[in-house]
Amino acid sequence: MKEYKHFINGDYVGSQSGKTFENRCPVDNHLLGMVHEADKQDVDLAVKSAKTALKGPWGKMSQSQRTELLNKVADRINERFDEFLEAECLDTGKPHSIARHIDIPRGAANFKAFSETLANHPTESFRLDTPDGNGAVNVGHRTPKGVIAVVSPWNLPLLLMTWKVGPALACGNTVVVKPSEETPATTTLLGEVMNECGVPAGVFNVVHGFGAGSAGEFLTTHPLVDAITFTGETSTGEAIVKAAALGLRSISMECGGKNPGIVFADCDMDKAVEGTMRSAFVNCGQVCLGTERVYVERPIFDEFVKRLKEGVAKLKLGRPEDEDANFGPLVSLEHRNKVHSYYRLAIQEGATVEIGGGIPDMGEALNDGAWIEPTIWTGLPDDARVIKEEIFGPCCHIRPFDTEEEVIALANDTDYGLAATIWSENSARSIRVAEQMETGLVWINSWFLRDLRTAFGGAKQSGIGREGGVHGLEFYTELKNICIKL
Ligand code: NAD
Repeated sequence: MKEYKHFINGDYVGSQSGKTFENRCPVDNHLLGMVHEADKQDVDLAVKSAKTALKGPWGKMSQSQRTELLNKVADRINERFDEFLEAECLDTGKPHSIARHIDIPRGAANFKAFSETLANHPTESFRLDTPDGNGAVNVGHRTPKGVIAVVSPWNLPLLLMTWKVGPALACGNTVVVKPSEETPATTTLLGEVMNECGVPAGVFNVVHGFGAGSAGEFLTTHPLVDAITFTGETSTGEAIVKAAALGLRSISMECGGKNPGIVFADCDMDKAVEGTMRSAFVNCGQVCLGTERVYVERPIFDEFVKRLKEGVAKLKLGRPEDEDANFGPLVSLEHRNKVHSYYRLAIQEGATVEIGGGIPDMGEALNDGAWIEPTIWTGLPDDARVIKEEIFGPCCHIRPFDTEEEVIALANDTDYGLAATIWSENSARSIRVAEQMETGLVWINSWFLRDLRTAFGGAKQSGIGREGGVHGLEFYTELKNICIKL
């Protein structure tokens, strides 16, 4: 049985209290191993290691040396690709066929993309006229923020964690990562890679545990943490913002979504159906950018519902290593209970279940796993909880609309503002609608097509700040203005 220890100052260490918790595989609920749960002393040790490392060889490294080291980290993840793949799929239950193309390669790429983008970004410079006629020159100078706390979720564990650790290290910070309690494996494994590549001890640290009253809270309230970057639920984000208020630490918040997909009658139907299949059901619907509300223009509504149902009927549920499977279980039985409670609620709220709606019979070997049926509803009122609340499962509601104005109002009628997807072959209309979406991201005729140089983040209750490309510089560095009188 595996033991997942903290990674502090370049070493794997157990909890000083000896406290551990179980890590189970959602495919069949078998016990994968025991995870050490960090208490205050463990977190304190990790944060102090990160603080000390800022003044060690890491702090003296040039930008190009850091870039070289982070490129090595990316290469080493790719060399150990199969181990990362296996670990990620056991923790999450997701099919190898998906993690092989998304989680692991993109997780590795995060170490390359940011160091290269940041290295090539100029800082600002202004010449100022002065009364004596000699003038002054202002030069922007960026320094690392310091110790960054990285609190990450379970849905794309390696990818979303390195999405933060990559730019944080590229900017010269040190990090203490608190991965989700559901998915400790790949973050733990990354510690080995850091040592193999010669990343100095204390630059990358990992503490395991839960949120409130555990490692998450101890880390985000630690006074030596200089900034906190978080991805997870909006309600958790609110707790972390409160923690960050103490000592006025910077925050970057990437939170929940209840994303609309808008399908106009002039869309390319094949593309719209294929794209919505992915946006609603890939990763068992556990993608923050996923579409849970689909609005379809009335003339093509029946045809679209029929085609999406056909797509769902073809999804192949199966074990991660089954190369034909494209649909795994949810991440845990606890999350399955949550999603399933929304399936029941949808019926109470008056939904027509077009397909799915229950727990599948996966056979004796898998029935203890967190399996759930991909589900489509129609017929819910616009104020139903199923329409308003983030479910984070493989389900969507489809509603007809008649006018552009109506669908814009419906799409924006939410507290969230992460992403929207528009399907139409009329570019002028797509852009006009995109500009009116109250979201941080809009995709037209695509979904989850990511260019790492672009801004990523949510509006409204979906987040605070933007990461990605040079936008990460605002959060991961302190910008100092140096004014030189000539
Ligand atoms: P979560 O909020 O339950 O947990 C996220 C992390 O926060 C975990 O590591 C958890 O242990 C920690 N945590 C929980 N309570 C804490 C506290 N009080 N103090 C400090 N840390 C705490 O989220 P989840 O269930 O792991 O992930 C699913 C959620 O993440 C969904 O809402 C989804 O939309 C969101 N998400 C957002 C994005 C984005 O980019 N906007 C990306 C992926 C997932």
